[in-house]
Amino acid sequence: MADFSLELNEDQLQIQKWVHDFAEDVMRPAAHEWDEREETPWPIIEEAANIGLYSWEFVANAFSDPTGLTFPLVMEEMAWGDAGIGLAIFGTTLGVSGIVGSGTPEQIAEWVPQCFGTPDDIHVSAFCVSEPDAGSDVSSLRTRAVYDEAKDEWVLNGTKTWITNGGIDKVPNVHVIVAAVDPELKARGHASFVVPPGTPGLRMGQKFKKMGIRASHTAEVVLDDVRIPGNCLLGGKEKLDERLARAREGKSTRTQAAMSTFEASRPIVGAQALGIARAAYEFALDYAKERKAFGTRIIEKQGIAFKLADMRMEIDAARLLVWRACWMARNGKPFTAGEGSMSKLKAGEVAVWATEQAIQILGGYGYIREFPVERWHRDSKIYTIFEGTSEIQRLVVARAVSGVHIP
Ligand SMILES: Cc1cc2nc3c(=O)[nH]c(=O)nc-3n(C[C@H](O)[C@H](O)[C@H](O)COP(=O)(O)OP(=O)(O)OC[C@H]3O[C@@H](n4cnc5c(N)ncnc54)[C@H](O)[C@@H]3O)c2cc1C
Repeated sequence: MADFSLELNEDQLQIQKWVHDFAEDVMRPAAHEWDEREETPWPIIEEAANIGLYSWEFVANAFSDPTGLTFPLVMEEMAWGDAGIGLAIFGTTLGVSGIVGSGTPEQIAEWVPQCFGTPDDIHVSAFCVSEPDAGSDVSSLRTRAVYDEAKDEWVLNGTKTWITNGGIDKVPNVHVIVAAVDPELKARGHASFVVPPGTPGLRMGQKFKKMGIRASHTAEVVLDDVRIPGNCLLGGKEKLDERLARAREGKSTRTQAAMSTFEASRPIVGAQALGIARAAYEFALDYAKERKAFGTRIIEKQGIAFKLADMRMEIDAARLLVWRACWMARNGKPFTAGEGSMSKLKAGEVAVWATEQAIQILGGYGYIREFPVERWHRDSKIYTIFEGTSEIQRLVVARAVSGVHIP
């Protein structure tokens, strides 16, 4: 008997159903309202915290599943409910993955619970890498971190942009900042820092109005002489000094602050894109079985039925790539062919394409705000942009499979 199986276990099925019920009963009915309001849906985050969904314990538990599939299952269901609200709830996990990716076990134990708070005292977190002149090109970060040895403090200056949860101060917010310690070393001279909630000098700049995922807050974060204790450097000073010394000698360094976080989170982001694509596919399938034109249901027309067949096939194919990458990441299998990037690339592009197909199947009803399909299309587009654009994912895959450094 072969071991290979795609069957989900009892725990996974239970969690999937539990999250699906929350997505169906709480998120879906609220999706249109928060999309229009373009605000963080605090009451829904509170509801998620009350049932234990928004909590570090739940996230740690989901991540500890040895198959690696529980967290992508959760993400798919949440995004099926609503991607904007889903990101408002789980945007915090971006900051958490920055801490887990670079922090010591003590730092992880200290800061991860503070990213979530408790149901009575909600906290959030933000992961701040991108800058006005450094998005895809992470090596060009201008935000500087300078060590003040006399006070054992780091001083951060710069401006971050497009930051999910960035600068929110309504509740305590743990910002994780990637900054240049030695700009000459480019990405190898970067380090990650925790800025504790309420630290003077950190403030929100412009809040952006967006095309989609509008319930999720996206803003600039301005750092003006932000002083943080020495132990807020993730990974610790000794490790950083060693890494910088190796980089200065031209030796290879294993970790680059932002990149190690993105590698781990890309398949999870792909799972969110899948949730949107599946929502659109299911809605369009139901619609096609009801809607009549020229005397028959439109599902009976090959032009529509084939679209739905292709949608289902592409969604299933994308899910297999996402699950493979999550299983590999959890089981310590290296991404030798850019499998993490591949999964996010495929899922993001399938989501944009499938939601557009769904609009076409609904015709005029697909184009108006009374139906959710146009929102899903707007929401899907971010998945070919953030956590690395589709072009950057292709670059990662092309470099990995060719062994050639394609610029
Ligand atoms: C809603 C939203 C939320 C976000 N959340 C966060 C967050 O929480 N934290 C964070 O740090 N960032 C966040 N981002 C930033 C996001 O990761 C960047 O927008 C993204 O990495 C692209 O960077 P850019 O916008 O500067 O585009 P650019 O890098 O300027 O790219 C512009 C175009 O050029 C292409 N391009 C660039 N380089 C190459 C190349 N070498 N080869 C081929 N094509 C190339 C790109 O693919 C793209 O099509 C968010 C962005 C948005 C819109």
